Amino acid sequence: MKFYVKSVIDLGIRKNLPCFGPMATDSVFIGQLCPGCQKVFGAGDYVTLIALGPGNDRVEQKKAAAGVEYKAIAVEGHWQCITGEDPNG
Ligand SMILES: [Zn+2]
Repeated sequence: MKFYVKSVIDLGIRKNLPCFGPMATDSVFIGQLCPGCQKVFGAGDYVTLIALGPGNDRVEQKKAAAGVEYKAIAVEGHWQCITGEDPNG
């Protein structure tokens, strides 16, 4: 998945992340592994996207290097695994 970011988020600081959920039963992510807990995503889960960087797209690499918004490759993780926050309060 790709989405636009202004910079890769610093490790250990998870601010202004989008929270998606609850995950629908027909989500394409159902059954994939969360990198945080190694459990599969299921319906009802809350997730977020972590930007990794511009990937191998030279145009997006140049934007990232210039510090402007670019399209980033990203991975999905459980909201609680990434932020530590319980999405249900
Ligand atoms: Zn997880």
